[in-house]
Amino acid sequence: MQNSIFDIEKQAFESIEKASDPDQLEKLSIKYLGRKGELTKFLRNISCLPVDERPGAGKNANILKGKLEKAFKTAFLKLEAINDKNFAGIDVTLPGRPVPRGSLHPITQVAKEISDIFLRLGFNIAESPEVETDYYNFEALNIPKYHPARDMQDTFYVSENIVLRTHTSPSQPRVMESCKPPVRIISPGKVFRCDSDITHTPMFYQIEGLMVDENISFGDLKGILTTFVHQFFDKDTSLRFRPSFFPFTEPSAEVDIRCVMCKGKGCRICSKTGWLEVLGSGMVHPAVFENVGYDTDKYTGFAFGIGIERMAMLKYGIDDIRKFYENDVRFLGQF
Ligand SMILES: [Zn+2]
Repeated sequence: MQNSIFDIEKQAFESIEKASDPDQLEKLSIKYLGRKGELTKFLRNISCLPVDERPGAGKNANILKGKLEKAFKTAFLKLEAINDKNFAGIDVTLPGRPVPRGSLHPITQVAKEISDIFLRLGFNIAESPEVETDYYNFEALNIPKYHPARDMQDTFYVSENIVLRTHTSPSQPRVMESCKPPVRIISPGKVFRCDSDITHTPMFYQIEGLMVDENISFGDLKGILTTFVHQFFDKDTSLRFRPSFFPFTEPSAEVDIRCVMCKGKGCRICSKTGWLEVLGSGMVHPAVFENVGYDTDKYTGFAFGIGIERMAMLKYGIDDIRKFYENDVRFLGQF
């Protein structure tokens, strides 16, 4: 008796599959689900089964009833669609065309990867405006008007005192004005400079970092940035801290890594030096602390800025920065 429920199922689904018009389907529906239908008969006869078989058989029959009702409904709709004049010449039974799914842009992926490393080191993310006042972009960072350091940055001016930020560093005074130490933030985002060639685009991405507290030393700067480089590239990557100049840090250092392409032997990418510059850093200049009202006797700190495109190019061996912004899916789909 148990077997016959499976026979009914097999036969019913086979005939539904073969049915080519609604009348035929209607007859089949009566044959299996009607008052004198086979499934109905089966359910009625359950009482004749041995007591221990009854619950199982009842359950199976009811499950099949549900399945058949659904199958008939689908089959009716399908035949209806096939016979609909509006669908003439269209095979509605064909599977749909898949819509290709996009993926995260490589710059977004690398920005996230860098942020995740610093979040694990206890940093928080701070946001800062892309259209900035001259004060936060320059003056609060110890770059007064007519200071020669302004020549290093080809700025887009919106008006005399409003600029598209040339770096993510305005996030430093903005964060420090709004909270007391300890400060430990990163601030990723777009920056703008009037510049365009194989290694520069007018819009690009940076991540700013700032850590301020009592007793923060250059040793902390080296420790954090070394940890970052080891996690982003690999733990055998050597680093070099090279003295440099930024108006808002003193002392300042550029950080170089052992060339990831030639492993230090010297190649075209590293201009035969074996080293690649990856970021700028330094101890926060006391003038910046004074501008935000921090006690320079009590607090010290360090800041750094990382170019996201540069990191992505080194990590993936990309030789032209413009590829990131040409929207070519053949390039973007590789990441
Ligand atoms: Zn090299």
